[in-house]
Amino acid sequence: MESMRILRFSQGRMLARQLANPEKVHILLAVAWLLVLVACSSELEENQSTRTQAAAVRATDPRPSVILVVLDTLRADAVSSYGVVKGTTPALDRLAEGGIRYSRAYAPAPWTVSSHTTLFSGLRVDQHGVGLEGGSVAPGSLQMLAETFHDAGYLTAGFSENTLVSAEFGFDQGFDLLEAPDVLEVINAAMTGDDQSFDLGLIDRVRRWDRRRDKSLPFFLFVNIFDAHDPYEVRKVNPWVSENVSQDEVEFIQSRYPISTALCGGVPERNNLEVLRGLYLGDVAAADSKLEELLQVFDLESNSEPHLIVTTSDHGEHLGENRLMGHQFSVRHPALHIPLIVSGLPNVAATTIERPVELRQVHDSLLCWALGEACATSLPVTKPLELLESETSEPIFSIYSDSIARLPKRLVDQLDISDYENFVDPARSKCNAVDRVFGDMVSMIRYPMKITWFGENDPVLHDLSWDPAERFDQMELQPERASRLFEELEEFVRLNVVLRDRQEVPELSEEAVRALKSLGYLQ
Ligand SMILES: [Zn+2]
Repeated sequence: MESMRILRFSQGRMLARQLANPEKVHILLAVAWLLVLVACSSELEENQSTRTQAAAVRATDPRPSVILVVLDTLRADAVSSYGVVKGTTPALDRLAEGGIRYSRAYAPAPWTVSSHTTLFSGLRVDQHGVGLEGGSVAPGSLQMLAETFHDAGYLTAGFSENTLVSAEFGFDQGFDLLEAPDVLEVINAAMTGDDQSFDLGLIDRVRRWDRRRDKSLPFFLFVNIFDAHDPYEVRKVNPWVSENVSQDEVEFIQSRYPISTALCGGVPERNNLEVLRGLYLGDVAAADSKLEELLQVFDLESNSEPHLIVTTSDHGEHLGENRLMGHQFSVRHPALHIPLIVSGLPNVAATTIERPVELRQVHDSLLCWALGEACATSLPVTKPLELLESETSEPIFSIYSDSIARLPKRLVDQLDISDYENFVDPARSKCNAVDRVFGDMVSMIRYPMKITWFGENDPVLHDLSWDPAERFDQMELQPERASRLFEELEEFVRLNVVLRDRQEVPELSEEAVRALKSLGYLQ
């Protein structure tokens, strides 16, 4: 039956690419499917289970369902199949083993709203504007992934544990259903220090939706799993925290260093940092267990409906590198290097792709793999013949704008916050100019080199192949390379950030501002 599933899917891609009319495609695909069905009739007789009945129902629309999972705040090297830690992510590792693992995938921005807007729209931050000039709501003018799937006849559902990926921030576009924690509940939980309490019952919600959905239609399902986001949880059992540290000590360290303010001069000393790292990895393992439960809902091993699964993150997390904790004020490697794993592609061998790729390519790739559109800009699925594949790729840009760390001016006026200009930012009070955490920042990767523009401050250049922690600045050591790359980056910044067409960005509601603040994004 496996080969039949593959045939059915690849025919779908090929035909859909050739024909613009989706109705026509459906009819032709159904005919193709029926022919295959007849050829496999003896096999069918042997498997008179509900599964085959479900597949037969889907004969009217053989396109694959799509499951897109964001494990929020997951840095690549916290995933065990990325080779640095052991045993944190068995579910992800299994997907990687049977699918395509992108070892060099990068986020477009180091925070949720900006990055999810890119994931859903396929646009860079400077193109969609969310995260620039105080814009923190995805504009209705964007064509989002869920809208395209909805228009193509897919069921669309989203379940987000992150309140920032909700209708309040413009992410409900195209979803038949988008469930996320209520913004006010999250604010209350943050105010009472009970951040872990807003349990959405994620898996039960997905399961209920799965039971009720129309099984004759393919679906686009988006899930955001939030466990790895700070504050890190102190767990009774956590193999990544040394046994020599008592539970009381762990609790003390966790409460002493709130991630969003333990920056620069306030970064914990080594032993405490190790404990926080252990807590973070414990949270990563919890996120992975939830992913496992999610996959079990769809019983993928015995389910004959075609599914594509993309698992990734919206950004990483600093654990002391570059004198930073968390994922704000940074376009450094720990904040941008994310896992990306694709499984369920028919006729594609399991592999690791080392060519640098970016999160925004997921958009076009899903359209290509499921609907046969936008294939020219989809992710590579096989290794190219050239040995230096990584060096020939297009540059990858990531943007962080300081404007998101400040309330939008319109809102300051509206809320009548007195003396806002003189307000001291508590998060960065222990930082100075050399930390380069103030102002806007834009990085450009032309692997293995990464150059970063810091506005008023000097740029930095790093060779990611041996210095992913970005500790050894190459600007003066490789002057020719540095000036060539900086010229290219500066031109990009000038055209796309400084002189960018100012777009109207939707106003944030007061609740949305408070939600951003409660998650550490606004001061
Ligand atoms: Zn996030």
